[in-house]
Amino acid sequence: MRHLINPLDFSLDELHDLLNLADDIAAAPEKYQDVCAHKKLATLFYEPSTRTRLSFEAAMMNLGGSVLGFSSADSSSASKGESVADTIRVVSAYADIAAMRHPREGAPLRASMYSRIPVINAGDGGHEHPTQTLTDLMTIRRRCGKLDGLTIGLCGDLKFGRTVHSLITTMVRYPNTKFVLISPKELRVPDYIYNDVLKPSGCRYVKTTSLEEAMPQLDVLYMTRIQRERFADPNEYRRLKDSYILTPDKMALGKPDLAVLHPLPRVNEITLEVDDDPRAAYFEQAQNGVYVRMALIMTLLGLTEKPLADKPASSRELVEMHCPNPRCITGVEEGVKHLFHRAPDGVLRCIYCEQEA
Ligand SMILES: [Zn+2]
Repeated sequence: MRHLINPLDFSLDELHDLLNLADDIAAAPEKYQDVCAHKKLATLFYEPSTRTRLSFEAAMMNLGGSVLGFSSADSSSASKGESVADTIRVVSAYADIAAMRHPREGAPLRASMYSRIPVINAGDGGHEHPTQTLTDLMTIRRRCGKLDGLTIGLCGDLKFGRTVHSLITTMVRYPNTKFVLISPKELRVPDYIYNDVLKPSGCRYVKTTSLEEAMPQLDVLYMTRIQRERFADPNEYRRLKDSYILTPDKMALGKPDLAVLHPLPRVNEITLEVDDDPRAAYFEQAQNGVYVRMALIMTLLGLTEKPLADKPASSRELVEMHCPNPRCITGVEEGVKHLFHRAPDGVLRCIYCEQEA
């Protein structure tokens, strides 16, 4: 049985098949309306994320399946102190597949270790949000016709933006990708992304603070929101928040076939006038999110022509040591072992949250 916990859980071939299926669904959704008849999706949302939950629920309903679940920790047995491991063992008896959103990093991985049904990570703290990445890939591929050889501009909060980190980690697997990292100095991509992902990949990348200068060379512009809650100092937030507002003037500097993406919700980083520009792809991106989740549910349930092969058991060596990350699932989960493995860069990292030892 396979799960989707990390954007890299699928090989490039598996990803290719999944995106082809999502395109096929987009072309003729009615062909798939009964594929999941009598199947149930459990949405286990320990923190509210209405948009993501609705996207999963719409995906399952479009496939003829049904949905059960909870939308906050208060309404789940987590409020009574039940572990994620126990919850998923119980839910495995109720549903055929589960999507889990959790404020603790590594919670969906922990669940997958005890689950008898496929588990989808629907966002774990600041760590990963792989179905957003699938949505981004589908949108880029449909707009640009390919995933290799693209110049991708990432703009705004590149430090805390988890969607940005996942997109970089995924896009470095495609040949001749170039990144233009557009952000204030304070919100640059964290060092570990440079050291563990960008530099070893050999992909070209440039850092800039100017969106205007970057615009003419971009095939894709990925905008992000600068979040107030990331700043200790409200004055700092006010100074930076309007740095990178996309306006029709800036759009005029872009290529005619540029694609503008945004994980949504936006605040004011893209002005409403840009919505009418045919290069704005962000609402289409939200629609693609439903198609790609439909394709994912079918794939993990083994309802496709070419079922996923089981993954070989990992031979990586695990070391038991304390995880210092306060956002890690190991901090709250009853009976969990704090396990670390040696990452490709030689550093020991927590298997749940990837915190360095
Ligand atoms: Zn950890």
